[in-house]
Amino acid sequence: MARYRGAVCRLCRREGMKLFLKGDRCFKPSCAIEKRGTQPPGQHGALAKRKVLAGYGQQLREKQKVKRIYFVLERQFRNYFEKASRQKGITGENLLILLERRLDNTVYRAGFTTSRRQARQLVSHGHVLVNGRKVDIPSFQVKVGDVISLKESMAKNPHIVAAWETANGRGRPSWLTVQKDEMSVTVSALPKREDIDRNINEQLIVELYSK
Ligand code: SF4
Repeated sequence: MARYRGAVCRLCRREGMKLFLKGDRCFKPSCAIEKRGTQPPGQHGALAKRKVLAGYGQQLREKQKVKRIYFVLERQFRNYFEKASRQKGITGENLLILLERRLDNTVYRAGFTTSRRQARQLVSHGHVLVNGRKVDIPSFQVKVGDVISLKESMAKNPHIVAAWETANGRGRPSWLTVQKDEMSVTVSALPKREDIDRNINEQLIVELYSK
């Protein structure tokens, strides 16, 4: 499947906010947003004024932002929206919950990695176990009771250990219960809206796709 292969910091600058796509660096002064602010990317970015968006433009940017946060392409994102609109409840919240339940996102939230991109790589390279069995599909939807862990060899990787220890200090979302000694997490509930990034206005995405 086609993937964005450009510089990911450009995506943050395009959206005018930190999307936390690069792991540890996102928390350091070397982060492009920390260094250059939220000016748009490109040769004339410093001169270009960020337009105040409204209506369609605002809805489009919000959709792009969420796609970029979860690293999902347009068609897949649209499929999530259609699935969310068929579910009971509020479509925008359903959409975010479907995205949050992706296995790559769960691996990131569990603290095995410091970015969703790293988490996706870990899953697609076959290092992640769900209930003790390898699952290498990043879009796999976790459900209540699933136990997420890593293959033994990968669990000893110094980068993974460092990310795990950082997450132990920082804490994890309430829908994941951690087994620190076993280096695993259990999905103890489905994620709720309040567990997900508050800087997302999902209603704008619903309005965009409802036109
Ligand atoms: Fe975005 Fe992280 Fe790059 Fe900062 S370091 S601009 S948060 S991807």
